[in-house]
Amino acid sequence: MSAYDQLMAYERVTQALGSVAGRTGWDQETMMPAGSAALRAEEMAALEEVLHARRTNPKLGDLLEAAESADDVSRANLRHIRRSFDRATKVPATLATAIARHTSKGQGIWAAARAENDFASFAPTLTEMIRLKREEAACLAAGGDLYDALLDDYEPGVTGAELQSMFDRMRPRLVDLRAQVLAEDGPAPIDHAFDEAGQMALSTVLARTFGYDLEIGRIDKAVHPFSSGSGTDVRITTRTSPRDPFNCFYSTIHEVGHACYEQGIDRAYELTPLGAGVSMGVHESQSRIYENQLGRSRAFTGWLFGQMRDQFGDFGVADEDAFYRVVNRVGSGYIRTEADEVHYNLHVMLRFDLERQLVDGRLEVADLEEAWNERFAADFGTAVDVASNGVLQDVHWSFGLFGYFPTYTLGNVYAGCLYQSLRGAVPALDDQLAKGDTSAATGWLRENLQQFGGLREPRETIRHACGFEPTEAPLLDYLDAKFGALYGL
Ligand code: ZN
Repeated sequence: MSAYDQLMAYERVTQALGSVAGRTGWDQETMMPAGSAALRAEEMAALEEVLHARRTNPKLGDLLEAAESADDVSRANLRHIRRSFDRATKVPATLATAIARHTSKGQGIWAAARAENDFASFAPTLTEMIRLKREEAACLAAGGDLYDALLDDYEPGVTGAELQSMFDRMRPRLVDLRAQVLAEDGPAPIDHAFDEAGQMALSTVLARTFGYDLEIGRIDKAVHPFSSGSGTDVRITTRTSPRDPFNCFYSTIHEVGHACYEQGIDRAYELTPLGAGVSMGVHESQSRIYENQLGRSRAFTGWLFGQMRDQFGDFGVADEDAFYRVVNRVGSGYIRTEADEVHYNLHVMLRFDLERQLVDGRLEVADLEEAWNERFAADFGTAVDVASNGVLQDVHWSFGLFGYFPTYTLGNVYAGCLYQSLRGAVPALDDQLAKGDTSAATGWLRENLQQFGGLREPRETIRHACGFEPTEAPLLDYLDAKFGALYGL
């Protein structure tokens, strides 16, 4: 067997074990009995130990030296395996273990602090997490930028400085659009109770409508919506809230976007490094275009209005136009995950700036809550009332996920680019969406992006699909046009 074939055979087992670990995580959030948490933690730690040993096995280094690539696919496979091996071996095992241990401890402390609205009780844990992550970043960066080294885990190829300059270009236009929209009268929120069974039933209809294959997927309820798995077993979760059915429906469509990306990857790549979404930003471009550009469009919401009337009867919204306005209602709330399209990226930019300062050492954890509240007041015009609505709202930092937040906005930017090209490629898009037919749109995404999995680098994946160098301009133009029309600007 050639060195390359040996590598791929070895990798196949590692991928399969990783897939089992992912399924165990899914089970923990959906089906696991409440009393089984301690056993599950040991099971997952054992799997992680096996995976870490496989990923750092010196044999991999020898095979990587000897392996030769013959085409684009083998070149890409080797690139992924080399990156993973380099990252895994640069971090000493003692540090990796310390981070894993601190992460699992940190989540509980964060959750308790959030429940009590007490940032001070989480601050020492966060300080230690940042110390560990800085140490990890120093191992990875080899003298380079620490934040960039962490970012590389989620979005290979992009730097903090590049994101900073893109966000600096976006911010004034978003702030301006926000001010104009909020100066106008918006629609009242829906005042109606929607039964849970009806929400779950329509959720399943929506998932199928967007092309989610339930033969190799399933939908369950969980506290936080997520998508899990790749290839021929990709599962999603959603949640219901009696007075806010859009939380359920748009969480479902969002996760279906992630899941369809994973289901849409060329089956020949299953259990290889190419068999999963290429980066967080590209992943989010799929969930966002399904959720927003398609799911919240005038055409599609017209169809959804009919579906909701069939499912729930009269819920107090007169017609399709009124429904479209309600679905796209703009309001400045505290919570990122509930933010509308106008506010969402401002939430991300706040986090990006603060976490970059934390990692660089320009901001101390002791000053973080005050820095958050000041920035929030400046950007959103309201004072944060309690820490669970401010600095304690997101789980990411307690997990040590520094460098993750900006990929959300990068995903929105990429979705804007893809949507521009999609509209050009599918002239009858609105007519189809108005009938609840997303097949041309999702087919275009599968054909031009999803099927390739990890074949190309993230930015190249988007460039290949949309046919031009991705920039923030299409997203900003789309937002101006959409909300300008909605709010009569
Ligand atoms: Zn997402």
